Amino acid sequence: MPLYESQSIKIYNSLNGEKQDFEPIIPGYVGMYVCGPTVYSNVHLGNVRTFMSFDIIYRYLKHLEYKVRYVRNITDAGHLENDADEGEDRIAKKARLEAIEPMEVVQRYTVDFHNILNTFNFLPPSIEPTATGHIIEQIEIIKNIIDNGFAYKVNGSVYFDVLKYNESKSYGILSKRKVEDLIHNTRALDGQSDKKNPQDFALWKKAEPQHIMRWPSPWSDGFPGWHLECTAMSTKYLGEQFDIHGGGMDLKFPHHECEIAQAEATNDKAPVNYWMHANMLIMNGKKMAKSTGNYILPNEIFSGDNPHITKAYLPSVARFFMLQAHYRSILDFTNNGLLASEKGYFRLMDAINLMDNLKTSSTSSVDIQNWRQKCYDAMNDDFNTPVLIANLFDGAKFINQIKDGSATITHEDLDLLKSTITTFTFDILGLKNSDKEVVGSDKLSSAVEILINLRKEARVNKDFALSDKIRDELAEAGIQLQDGKDGTTFTTN
Ligand code: AMP
Ligand code: ZN
Repeated sequence: MPLYESQSIKIYNSLNGEKQDFEPIIPGYVGMYVCGPTVYSNVHLGNVRTFMSFDIIYRYLKHLEYKVRYVRNITDAGHLENDADEGEDRIAKKARLEAIEPMEVVQRYTVDFHNILNTFNFLPPSIEPTATGHIIEQIEIIKNIIDNGFAYKVNGSVYFDVLKYNESKSYGILSKRKVEDLIHNTRALDGQSDKKNPQDFALWKKAEPQHIMRWPSPWSDGFPGWHLECTAMSTKYLGEQFDIHGGGMDLKFPHHECEIAQAEATNDKAPVNYWMHANMLIMNGKKMAKSTGNYILPNEIFSGDNPHITKAYLPSVARFFMLQAHYRSILDFTNNGLLASEKGYFRLMDAINLMDNLKTSSTSSVDIQNWRQKCYDAMNDDFNTPVLIANLFDGAKFINQIKDGSATITHEDLDLLKSTITTFTFDILGLKNSDKEVVGSDKLSSAVEILINLRKEARVNKDFALSDKIRDELAEAGIQLQDGKDGTTFTTN
């Protein structure tokens, strides 16, 4: 019997604001789509937080033995500045500033995205499609929406007719906005006058002569609107109706609202059963964002090279920090928060690394079965990682009590304790054990780790001349070692 039959999940559905029993369309199979990054700059830690929330969900669904098809796209065209229907394409703008091809921008930041996610130990999605790889599919959807009477053509562009759609459907169903209230931003932006109503949104835009990212279509040489790609790719790989659609809270409106409208206008069906939105990472009381300069890059966390932090942190520590908040809560990024998470992470690892040397008894004084189910209950309750982590700390406490003789455990229970704590810590939360974790992902980091370990050995042997020599010569080479309570880390300059 697959695990999902004995563990039933509840998911908070943004569509109705309720926690609902999760029932996939096809029993045993899950289709999940998550909006991916716009690859015009390095991902910041806020972006990582959203993708991490869905990495955990993916890991847990897989653990429950669902067959999951997880689609996370790459936005490599169509996302304009300010999320609006006017202005420059973000990727084309970067290409212009750096005097390189747009696809060079896409390549550079896609590689960066993958490197960062790898360092954080993410599982790759099942499919990672790109917007530019699905222009034909997007054009087909526009044709259908026009045929169904929900879009109109003006001067080579095509717009979605929100008022027409709202006569028979419900625009605002997800974001709970009223169409009448949406007549905001009536500023006469370039080309805005093409729209019948300001709340209409672009499905296809005719390219201005200077716009280099362009494709032929029945209406003009141009490019698709930003919202359309996700409708095209989710429908293609998951079907007209699928189980879970995710993204950051800031995508709920207009992006996801428009996705629903496009899909309904094409197929006359609600595309998604469970809409999930991850909350924001904030810093200095404001949303972490590239555009305002209020952000921290993952590599700065691994090197310690940022004024907001006092030292370098392991990727697993940053991961642990983010998972100590529930995905629907706002999380405030602070150095103190990271320091506390670092302590907690090493406390858990120390306990896990003690497990192989525990003595067993003929009776158990701890109820491992009950504790194990509490770990599942936490994840079954809308993927509550902070409650899970509190339970894992209870597991760590058992281990320490068994070690110091204040608790007993049978051989059988110890096996269950071991398998449960390692499964939840490593497979589901995706943490790496501290002894396997290397700062950064490059060869330099591995080499420095070797020297740190040699220095540790020298100190154990009371060869302080050698240990100081290692530290001083590394410093001369621009690598500073920092001895902390939880071991030695390094920064480079
Ligand atoms: P973008 O590349 O701007 O499309 O963003 C990629 C993902 O990161 C989207 O799902 C956003 O919702 C998410 N995101 C952006 N800023 C933050 C933040 N400060 N905290 C959490 N998620 C964010
Ligand atoms: Zn999307």
